[in-house]
Amino acid sequence: PFDVLIVGGGPAGAASAVYAARKGIRVGVAAERFGGQVLDTMGIENFISIPYTEGPKLAAQLEQHVKDNEVDVMNLQTAEKLIPAANEGGLHEVRLANGGSLKARTIILSTGARWRKINVPGEDEYRNKGVAYCPHCDGPLFKGKRVAVIGGGNSGVEAAIDLAGIVAHVTLIEYASELRADAVLQRKLASLPNVKIITSAMTTEVRGDGEKVVGLTYKDRNHGDLHEVALEGIFVQIGLVPNTEWLKNAVALTTHGEIEIDARGETSQPGIFAAGDATTVPYKQIVVAMGAGSIAALSAFDYLIRLPAD
Ligand code: FAD
Repeated sequence: PFDVLIVGGGPAGAASAVYAARKGIRVGVAAERFGGQVLDTMGIENFISIPYTEGPKLAAQLEQHVKDNEVDVMNLQTAEKLIPAANEGGLHEVRLANGGSLKARTIILSTGARWRKINVPGEDEYRNKGVAYCPHCDGPLFKGKRVAVIGGGNSGVEAAIDLAGIVAHVTLIEYASELRADAVLQRKLASLPNVKIITSAMTTEVRGDGEKVVGLTYKDRNHGDLHEVALEGIFVQIGLVPNTEWLKNAVALTTHGEIEIDARGETSQPGIFAAGDATTVPYKQIVVAMGAGSIAALSAFDYLIRLPAD
């Protein structure tokens, strides 16, 4: 069995693997797609000390750094079920989609999250060419330009307030007849001169010129007519979904499906830790996920050294 088995190979899992391996213990990483969301990212300008890098390059470096250490990397492996140890100190089991099963004294869950898409024509085609999902990451790329934020919940309204300070103009588009964000955020949004709010609007198309986004089309849900908005960027903010469906009944999850962790990264099950976008960590960013991954690995090691010798 592994001393530490990490499920997920994004920034959180990679950091966990490096930290755990440096303790000289048996470490494995099982990941569906090593690199995680980083693989889908173009420019990264907030990876501190590296002013600019690109997702595929950073993902390859993450994998190389892990492989430079003694880690059993199992790529293209999907975990389907977690069976926590029956008694404290026992072995946890992870069942894989290929029928295999892995056992370990401690587990680190780092299966990340995925942005919910609007699923309209143009969205995939213009991803990273005007269609964005992370205002903290990509907001500054649209300095002085016109953008839309799709989604009027807390994350959409927060994004619109944030972007209004950077870009020329923000159009907030909400499907329902009113915004769902907290009243304090709505008041703040309403006070901003360069924000227009459109409710009862269903986005139907991302329009581009073949290279980049030039606008979007939405349908007025009250009257049924189509409208076009000319802009350079579209931030989709209709939810970040944690990849934790496979963990139901194994560890405590919030109503949004985030793995509940404490300050040491421990879940509701002793010996099972978690890190990164799959958890209740407040901000979903690469440096945050890496920090959380190192916390989870050090906590797992701390747990291991307290187990009775067998
Ligand atoms: P992820 O990166 O999501 O990795 C999850 C890992 O788990 C993957 O290896 C995945 O294949 C694996 N996995 C999932 N389910 C299973 C399963 N059942 N079994 C086995 N493996 C599984 N952040 C920044 O800081 N700066 C940026 O500029 C930036 N830009 C972004 C741009 C885009 C388009 C996106 C989508 C995100 C961006 N982010 C950015 C956010 C950043 O990518 C995430 O915060 C970070 O990748 C989270 O790391 P993670 O390890 O928790 O999860």
